[in-house]
Amino acid sequence: MTGKLVIIGTGPGNPDQMTPQALAAIGAGEQFFGYGPYLDRLELRPNQTRVASDNRQEIDRARAALDAASKGASVCVVSGGDPGVFAMAAAICEAVETGPETWRRLDIMVLPGVTAMLAVAARAGAPLGHDFCAISLSDNLKPWELIERRLRAVAQAGLVIALYNPISRARPWQLATAFKILREVLPVSTPVIFGRAVGRPDERFAVVPLGEADGQPADMATCVIIGSAETRIIARPGLDPLVYSPRGVEI
Ligand code: SAH
Repeated sequence: MTGKLVIIGTGPGNPDQMTPQALAAIGAGEQFFGYGPYLDRLELRPNQTRVASDNRQEIDRARAALDAASKGASVCVVSGGDPGVFAMAAAICEAVETGPETWRRLDIMVLPGVTAMLAVAARAGAPLGHDFCAISLSDNLKPWELIERRLRAVAQAGLVIALYNPISRARPWQLATAFKILREVLPVSTPVIFGRAVGRPDERFAVVPLGEADGQPADMATCVIIGSAETRIIARPGLDPLVYSPRGVEI
């Protein structure tokens, strides 16, 4: 019997932001693999089994899920946000590429979800209205020097930047260093958006100018969006400002 593996994006944390397609796949799954807190967000029936693992064990989790699927189970691998953005879909692909031939015959499907930067951008207005990029500040899988080079290059290119994994326990200075590098390239008035746990009850949201931005308001549940020189703030009495990047750039 050939098993099935579905890689599901559960969105930023608000159940209303999960797609009907993801919900249906969760209802049909037998075995669920994922980081514990992501599995906790699902309403599983007693006959649906959970295999929770630590945040950093992605490749081991991917292999265990592929192994279960190759034994005939209907397996769901769960990621927060979108599973293709700094998450499990790439880990599964890496495991398939280096794993046994049988894994290449599995029915593998990736179901998209609302990724963190889209949830934070929607909360702020339209900061991703023009060209943008996403960078993970985690140096678990790439050297910090490369992150610094990329930050300089994309800021110089005029892209709005969404930063994932802004702070790590091992390296709490990364975000402040990123702001320092960006201040060398961008105006100090550039808007910086801190969106924490957006869509969840413990959400926090703030907009500050790059000149005043430090790592303080961010933690591992925060996605930081740094505007380009074009990004604008519309102040509104009694309401959060609207932050947006105009759709066009004048030459
Ligand atoms: N696959 C996920 C990202 C995983 S990396 C996605 O598509 O969203 C984990 C990082 O995502 C966190 O460090 C944080 O930067 C961001 N993140 C995840 N959920 C978030 C939320 N609800 N609000 C703000 N940032 C979030």
